[in-house]
Amino acid sequence: MARLLRWLALLVLLALAGAAAGVWGGLIVVPARYDPWARLDLRAEPDWLTGFKLSRLEREPEQCRAALGETGLRFTALPDRDSDENCALRGVVRVARSDVAFSSGFIATCGLAAAWTLFEANALQPAAERHFGQTVARVEHLGTYACRNVYGRTSGRRSEHATANAIDLAAFVLADGTRVGVLGDWDAKGGSGGDGRKAAFLRDVRDGACRFFDVVLGPDYNEAHRNHFHLDMGAFSTCR
Ligand SMILES: [Zn+2]
Repeated sequence: MARLLRWLALLVLLALAGAAAGVWGGLIVVPARYDPWARLDLRAEPDWLTGFKLSRLEREPEQCRAALGETGLRFTALPDRDSDENCALRGVVRVARSDVAFSSGFIATCGLAAAWTLFEANALQPAAERHFGQTVARVEHLGTYACRNVYGRTSGRRSEHATANAIDLAAFVLADGTRVGVLGDWDAKGGSGGDGRKAAFLRDVRDGACRFFDVVLGPDYNEAHRNHFHLDMGAFSTCR
């Protein structure tokens, strides 16, 4: 019996490997949505392959820019820039706006910009609709690119901000002008003012960001993040 099971397992493995090779080699045609090697469609509903495809886009700037070009993001591609200080810019874009306006345009790695489009459409705006019945019109950020170490220390490793691979979000302004700020509203309690909604919205935004960014740090993490959400596409994986 055990022997039979081993054979069956081997057969299944061979079939899976054959199918994978067939898809990769183009012998088996599957819809782009189910093809792990197809370019990510940033407008499509995220699924179990989205994270894998997004990590490929991060390594393929040209493919990434093509994918960004299919979205509503307004951006321009920037030339690579070397740096003697480990602050090189590779495959970066300058983002002017998306469906939301930003407090200022910013430089971002294409992977960060791609993650943003997924986050905005599938986490940020749905959260605003759920909690307030309207959309976010404007996002206030504290910047993306800064040639510095983590926490601005004089030694230690470079921050993801040093390569424009991180963005710090401070506040969200709804279509009706209501402002929800991380600093003032994270700990807001419910009551007649309804500020509890803002706190619940911010937690939803933080949790939603964790679906698309590699690292998400907010006020729950430490004092340094009491006034913003740090989102980055670096090598680590954290959601706090
Ligand atoms: Zn940051």
